[in-house]
Amino acid sequence: MSVQVATPEERRIAYFSMEIGLDESIPTYSGGLGILAGDTLKASADLGIPIVGITLLAEKGYFTQHLGEDGMQTESPTEWDFRKTLEGPLPAKVTCHIEGRAVHIQAWRHNIVGSSGSIVPVLFLDTNLEENAEQDRTLTSYLYGGDQKYRLIQEIILGIGGVRMLRALSYTLLNRYHTNEGHAAFLAVELLREEVLREGRPLEDSDECMDMIKKRIRTKCVFTTHTPVAAGHDEFDYNLVEGIIQDYIPIDFLRILGGKEKLNMTVLAMNLSHYVNSVARQHQHVSEHLFPGYKISNITNGVHSTTWTSRPFQELFDEYLPNWRQDSFELRNVLRIPETKVWKAHCKAKEDMVKWVNEEYGVGFEEGVFTIGFARRATSYKRADLLFHDIKRLRQIGKEFKLQIIYSGKAHPHDKVGKDLIKKIFWHMGELKPDIKSIFIPDYDMAKAKLIIPGVDLWLNTPMRPKEASGTSGMKAAHNGVPQLSILDGWWIEGHIEGVTGWELGPTPTEENENENDDNEDAEEMYDKLEHIILPWFYNERSKWLFVMRNAIAFNASFFNTHRMVRQYALNAYLL
Ligand SMILES: *Cc1c(COP(=O)(O)O)cnc(C)c1O
Repeated sequence: MSVQVATPEERRIAYFSMEIGLDESIPTYSGGLGILAGDTLKASADLGIPIVGITLLAEKGYFTQHLGEDGMQTESPTEWDFRKTLEGPLPAKVTCHIEGRAVHIQAWRHNIVGSSGSIVPVLFLDTNLEENAEQDRTLTSYLYGGDQKYRLIQEIILGIGGVRMLRALSYTLLNRYHTNEGHAAFLAVELLREEVLREGRPLEDSDECMDMIKKRIRTKCVFTTHTPVAAGHDEFDYNLVEGIIQDYIPIDFLRILGGKEKLNMTVLAMNLSHYVNSVARQHQHVSEHLFPGYKISNITNGVHSTTWTSRPFQELFDEYLPNWRQDSFELRNVLRIPETKVWKAHCKAKEDMVKWVNEEYGVGFEEGVFTIGFARRATSYKRADLLFHDIKRLRQIGKEFKLQIIYSGKAHPHDKVGKDLIKKIFWHMGELKPDIKSIFIPDYDMAKAKLIIPGVDLWLNTPMRPKEASGTSGMKAAHNGVPQLSILDGWWIEGHIEGVTGWELGPTPTEENENENDDNEDAEEMYDKLEHIILPWFYNERSKWLFVMRNAIAFNASFFNTHRMVRQYALNAYLL
């Protein structure tokens, strides 16, 4: 493989995201959104898409999670040596005006090398410069840290500072700007401002400006929304906005673009983009209701296959499916691989997980025991506690069959409900002793995800409908032959074939019931399926179990990957 050099001039697409999760040594992500961004850029490198990624440095990361004996979460900054991990600082500086102060910004770079040797650069913006005022030096320290004001300023630095940095680094031929979630929507305002100034016009509510948006700005901008609940979309008071951006753009004009009452970053992005998409079909439907009048297309999420396939399965695929690293579609041919080999690879992945949790956490897990996994951000809509809804019933199932449970996930430092959820799970795990061994692993990150997800036998997903826009961890499980038991929401509505790729929970969403959630019914169905189908198949009918494992890979890993996803973005959003 020859590594090609990426020159700024050949880049056509800029991909902006508040978080980008590339690997565990670059902790600038909080969860699925950031990892999706990283997986998107990695697949682009594999496929030779001329894209450049832009994010904030987050030199203190998101946070490191510590859990007390009762599951009480405390946080500390994540120290990472970005000077060793990233190249830089790059030879360019730009400024943004914040409350009238000039804030200077520099950038660092990480080059992703794709499976074909193509390179995708990722730029990390950094305000920790001597020439900045003390308070401005920490503006790019924490991902999602601080208050509304800190967040708004970060979004200005990402959107406006990001465009300026691309100019300063000679990315001269960009013709698409992709906003991954609303955080970076200011980039489109900056593009408009550039055009207006170039023509020597005022930036204002005029026919000329509106015409310019239609003809020149929207064609360049692409927006992906990730949030199916109204409250999940970033909104800011115009008073706050005006205090920070001052005369950058007249506030009355911004109201026309970004919403009358408050600056809604989703509305701003939608108004300035020619292509807007959701991240799963059901999410498209929900988003169209949330934002009537806007055309919302859909590109269902995926995961980067080589990142999320465990070493044992990588070796197996290398042996039987030699092109899978260049082309994830090849994974459909897993049905050519003998069952026994698939089972062996799974047992190795499980052995690696069990060894690790036993050594690190002393839980005494056994390799032969059926293991349920659940790991994702600890936020209430994900209903991490549903498994423990009826402790007696769960314990009974565990006595009948043997069962062990592994959990992990961080709550946002301000999310009291999410933190209480972790404590509640700790409590329930205590109740299950000694019949069921269980563990909540602290400080979930990509490294732990790569051990936990492939190492369990069943991946559990129990969100409240319709709040899981897509979800991606189940796709990672599928890449490792780990079937899901999941609520029919997000991608699972598309990826689910009952008893073939995994199992469903709860009703099929219809117009009438799509917002309803009944914990009792969902929990009962979960216990019934565990007791009467899943555990009996696993322990007593191994060939049925292997049928599901292989189909999870053949149907779902071959489709729910970022190679397929990035091709759809290229055709539907970047080319047209
Ligand atoms: C994949 C991943 C997520 C996202 O999980 P969901 O189930 O899609 O919410 C979150 N955190 C980490 C570390 C991951 O690897």
